[in-house]
Amino acid sequence: MSFRKLGLRTDLLRAVEAQGYTIPTPIQVRAIPMVIEGRDILAGAQTGTGKTAAFALPILQRLTESKKKFYHPRVLVLAPTRELAAQVAESFEIYGRYLSLRTAVIFGGVKINPQITKLRHGVDILVATPGRLLDHLGRKTLDLSQIEVLVLDEADRMLDMGFIHDIRKVIKYLPANRQNMLFSATYSNEIKRMADGLLNNPALIEVSRGNTAAEGVTQQVYQVSQADKRFLLSSLIRDGKWSQALVFTRTKHRANKLTKQLLSDGISAAAIHGNKSQATRTRTLADFKSGAVQMLVATDIAARGLDIQQLPHVVNFDLPHVPEDYIHRIGRTGRAGANGIAHSLVSADEQNLLAGIERLLKLKIPVKKTGIQMPIAVSTPTPVRVRKNTQKVRRKRGNSSWLPSSFKPAKQTGRRAS
Ligand code: AMP
Repeated sequence: MSFRKLGLRTDLLRAVEAQGYTIPTPIQVRAIPMVIEGRDILAGAQTGTGKTAAFALPILQRLTESKKKFYHPRVLVLAPTRELAAQVAESFEIYGRYLSLRTAVIFGGVKINPQITKLRHGVDILVATPGRLLDHLGRKTLDLSQIEVLVLDEADRMLDMGFIHDIRKVIKYLPANRQNMLFSATYSNEIKRMADGLLNNPALIEVSRGNTAAEGVTQQVYQVSQADKRFLLSSLIRDGKWSQALVFTRTKHRANKLTKQLLSDGISAAAIHGNKSQATRTRTLADFKSGAVQMLVATDIAARGLDIQQLPHVVNFDLPHVPEDYIHRIGRTGRAGANGIAHSLVSADEQNLLAGIERLLKLKIPVKKTGIQMPIAVSTPTPVRVRKNTQKVRRKRGNSSWLPSSFKPAKQTGRRAS
């Protein structure tokens, strides 16, 4: 399958080629023709599947179909975090580089006036977090009456973060006649209700990470005491000669503490979390992307939506309380065909969290023997071969549908490939 066969115009194909993409990912193969046709979409897809291009490319194509000059935004993408909003906007700019469409991004934590100025100049595609968007609507600095396409990206995250009321309020400002897309990594009753209320005979697309971009993620558990975690991590980094890793902690405080400890072990590290200003977060992320910072220590919220290509290691320094967050976290490695390892440091008090994650994955994550001498002894059960087990999950997950049985898959067009 090639991008050309999906019905994209030449200037979009050129942009895709310039990005080095040769083969569309499964979600792109399925979603692009549907979106071009104007269908509503309900997609079960996580980061790392290529979902952004799956909606951005066909949306750009649709926008070019009208020769009329518009002033108010025609596309609205809602995203849960500033980082994701910024990255989605950047993707629209990259894919639309040979088109003359204007993209703006709006999120909180930064001054509102430059955003107002940008909106005044006219915008085609608006990417926003819900809170700041409502601010603009309240101030009447934004008119959403011309919206033709609405995308809810990482809808499950937006619900987790309590944005449901904000989203409902935003929708009231939109014209009734529009194309809608909902992307979500997980499927809950709340998401189902939202999809039912929002989507009109949607095309249902489900791509599990297992058979797509994250195929190369190897998962490992280290049984380790709380006190030994930092020694183990420093040793893994040094002995494994890790170039870069994203390390997750449960709290901002623990992110700061671990960063200090890594620095005192002579490892370059920086923390990214909600207490840091937007300017600091942007700078830290840029330093990490350039390789100036080796270890990025993050909380779940801060890390959501970070697009870091080919990250070789993700570390769960603490296991997440919500099992779904584990899937989001490990999605930061092995993206778009690259290989990666997800390491989880699990202490005795986290065994129940591990059990919850394994239940969700329908898999026992192999325990890795460290061979590292700890100041305090580490229990290291027999290692299990990782690849074999990840295969097993894939098969099992493939059987259990993400979509509720009440949904009937939409009629597929002849252009669809799987
Ligand atoms: P996403 O799932 O949208 O967060 O995308 C994950 C990563 O995959 C991003 O870094 C994209 O640049 C990259 N990507 C998207 N589509 C393709 C493709 N067809 N081939 C290679 N990389 C891709």
